Amino acid sequence: MMLLEGLKVSKILNEELKKKVEQLKRKPRLEIILVGDDPASLIYVNSKVKTQSELGMVANLNHFKENSDEDEIYEFIQKLNNDDSVDGILLQLPVPKHMNQERLMDAISYKKDVDGFHTMNQGLLFQKREGIRPATPKGIMMLLDYYGIDVQSKHVVIIGRSQIVGAPLSKMFLDKNATVTITHSKTKDLPSITKQADILVAALGKPKFVTYDMVKDGAIVIDVGINRVDGKLTGDVDFEAVKDKVSYITPVPKGVGPMTICALGYNLYELYLNRNEREK
Ligand code: NAD
Repeated sequence: MMLLEGLKVSKILNEELKKKVEQLKRKPRLEIILVGDDPASLIYVNSKVKTQSELGMVANLNHFKENSDEDEIYEFIQKLNNDDSVDGILLQLPVPKHMNQERLMDAISYKKDVDGFHTMNQGLLFQKREGIRPATPKGIMMLLDYYGIDVQSKHVVIIGRSQIVGAPLSKMFLDKNATVTITHSKTKDLPSITKQADILVAALGKPKFVTYDMVKDGAIVIDVGINRVDGKLTGDVDFEAVKDKVSYITPVPKGVGPMTICALGYNLYELYLNRNEREK
């Protein structure tokens, strides 16, 4: 078994990005919006701010109170849309329940949509056109690419069909000529499907869900899950149980997580280029 070391690869790719950023006329600028005090969200946004700064880019955190008005956030987004010095806008999800999340996500100009969640960017992906891709699927593809893993003609089975991971990832694999099966909570006899996978992606959010009997000998396993169990980060795959059966596997932590943040940096760079250098 070989580890797909997301942390190590992200450091290498971040170094490459840093050099590209140094060549730009000004530092790309990301504005992050966090509403409320969800502890996990706070950890995520702080890590995004730290990484973008290390890459030589600017990342500002705009922290709003939990009981803020939806229109206040909407108007703030409009202000950022109209500010030429802002290249990327990130609305940390989820927003508080009293807000219409989709309305706020669509308020972000797709030309500044660093997460690639805007309907326009999702549409571009599903039409196989250039656009900003969601960071987690993009990070997974970058990781496989780094290790020289060719996905063409492979059977990829994805557990989970969310708009941020499973659904866009399935399209990205399809566009690389893989044969893709998407499974979800209503799928019958899941193990009979996962056992066929040359590449198995677990993105469902249930700790140690994927067990020995669910994987094929020599499979490549990508564990997207981030679950906190007894204060410890645990993936969706029972790593210890499957590690000697598979050919490659991502660890949790230090696997897909750092690749997601790395892909976010590449998205910000891309947005900067699109608006500042390619269009002029
Ligand atoms: P989600 O809750 O939006 O979607 C979960 C999906 O899993 C759904 O499509 C559901 O149908 C499916 N599912 C649930 N139970 C199932 C079951 N028993 N069998 C088969 N399918 C089942 O989750 P999400 O936002 O896609 O996140 C999934 C996991 O990935 C979470 O642990 C999340 O924390 C993690 N995550 C990690 C990163 C990262 O950077 N590493 C990024 C995003 C999400």
